Amino acid sequence: MTSLQERLGKLDGHLRRFRQDGVLNLIGGQDVAGVEWFETRSPVDESLIAPVALGTPADIDAAAKAAKAAFPAWAAMPGDQRKALLHRIADLIEDRAEEIALCECWDTGQAWRFMSKAALRGAENFRYFADLAPGARDGQSLPTPTHWNVTTRHPIGPVGIITPWNTPFMLSTWKIAPALAAGCTVVHKPAEFSPLTARLLAEICHEAGLPPGVLNLVNGMGEGAGRALTEHPDIKAIAFVGESRTGSMIMKQGADTLKRVHFELGGKNPVIVFDDADLDRALDAVIFMIYSLNGERCTSSSRLLVQASIAETFHAKLADRVNRLKVGHPLDTNTEIGPLIHQTHFDKVAGYVEKGRADGATLAAGGQRIGDKGWFIQPTLFTDARPDMRIAQEEVFGPFLTSLTFRDEAEALALANGTAYGLAGYLWTNDLTRALRFSEGLEAGMIWVNSENVRHLPTPFGGTKASGIGRDGGDWSFDFYMETKNTAFATGTHKIQRIGA
Ligand code: NAD
Repeated sequence: MTSLQERLGKLDGHLRRFRQDGVLNLIGGQDVAGVEWFETRSPVDESLIAPVALGTPADIDAAAKAAKAAFPAWAAMPGDQRKALLHRIADLIEDRAEEIALCECWDTGQAWRFMSKAALRGAENFRYFADLAPGARDGQSLPTPTHWNVTTRHPIGPVGIITPWNTPFMLSTWKIAPALAAGCTVVHKPAEFSPLTARLLAEICHEAGLPPGVLNLVNGMGEGAGRALTEHPDIKAIAFVGESRTGSMIMKQGADTLKRVHFELGGKNPVIVFDDADLDRALDAVIFMIYSLNGERCTSSSRLLVQASIAETFHAKLADRVNRLKVGHPLDTNTEIGPLIHQTHFDKVAGYVEKGRADGATLAAGGQRIGDKGWFIQPTLFTDARPDMRIAQEEVFGPFLTSLTFRDEAEALALANGTAYGLAGYLWTNDLTRALRFSEGLEAGMIWVNSENVRHLPTPFGGTKASGIGRDGGDWSFDFYMETKNTAFATGTHKIQRIGA
């Protein structure tokens, strides 16, 4: 595709049916309209994209029943057949990658340069878990002198998957693909701000031949459809990606039905730059990890901890680059930062600019709204922050970086660990022993040393402290979506205690 006009033209073609019919739910293989509807609007110009079916507890009940009915056959399907089907889904995602990317950019405000690859990453997620499907049930042989213990794994049952609005397509595939590969059936409740690509994914799965009821889609609000899903007795587990306080609510809501939960929650991830690091590479990584994807990324490096000896120079270079980031229309290939997803989110991010100022940090770049239509904000940098400031403690989830300085390694570690979160950490130093020592002490589920976030699908993904419970990736995903069963076979006539004889 060449021009912005051409991309807008194609987008318009893709959106026509949504404008006409609305974004429908998909329950038991059937399109289901809403009794009531809500709107999804573009963050670019606040225009109406389409009405969206407002899922109710009755829709969730129908979807959970469909998932329960479809479960026995899906769970019993041989792994290699599930593998073939999931690869077919990946093929169709690739065929429609452009449509998915266009819709995602318009619905979420994410820039084309990043979203054009998001659909392909979604396809990769399906391929990766497709290949693991045939071995998902494999367990261990744990013999003793008297017994042969054999473990096997079995899909847990119908599961609920609740996803957020940041990179929604990629994240949905990251949760749905392993659930399907494990043999679970799914009810998906996507975020209310970004419903388009969840619908495309559900359509693709059915077109690929996924049996009715194996993947069900119910749009709606967290308090309505989301809550009903977490409370439904037929739903055995909830995989949730979103804010920490929502995770806490879901845990309470799921308590009566003893839900198994997997939480991927918020972060306030530190990037620690020591004065012996390759500072040019560190600068590139710091900027990329907070300002790409509009900073709406759970693993964004939203707290810069920079050694005092290099802080002045590092900040000067950083502010210069931040001021040159290209904010613009998400479908313009030059754009590096698009609009924030929604007014509510814009108000939250802009509110943190005010908090930073009021608390006495230095606004070194950005902070202003751009234009009066759409939710564009200048990429923002605060320096001279203190660790107790709200901008140094709370997740802003926008193109917003808070910088603090440290004198030595001990102070750096105390600052890095001094928040409620523990998702990711990024460490820049050329001192190998320090890198080992520091990463050992850093409270985070994922650490990158001298690197930005580079994902490798077999590695565990997830957070500690308020950032999450459980891990995704590789076999860790199957541990969540499956039950492990141990069967002990007596191998001889071991002595059985005789009582009451
Ligand atoms: P959110 O918690 O507001 O919403 C996420 C989903 O939960 C939505 O679908 C929403 O409708 C639903 N929901 C809300 N209340 C609910 C309830 N009471 N019961 C059931 N469902 C409910 O999060 P968001 O604003 O959409 O997403 C941004 C957050 O997600 C950030 O905190 C970010 O860090 C986090 N996130 C984490 C990861 C990770 O892997 N750790 C990845 C992406 C995003």
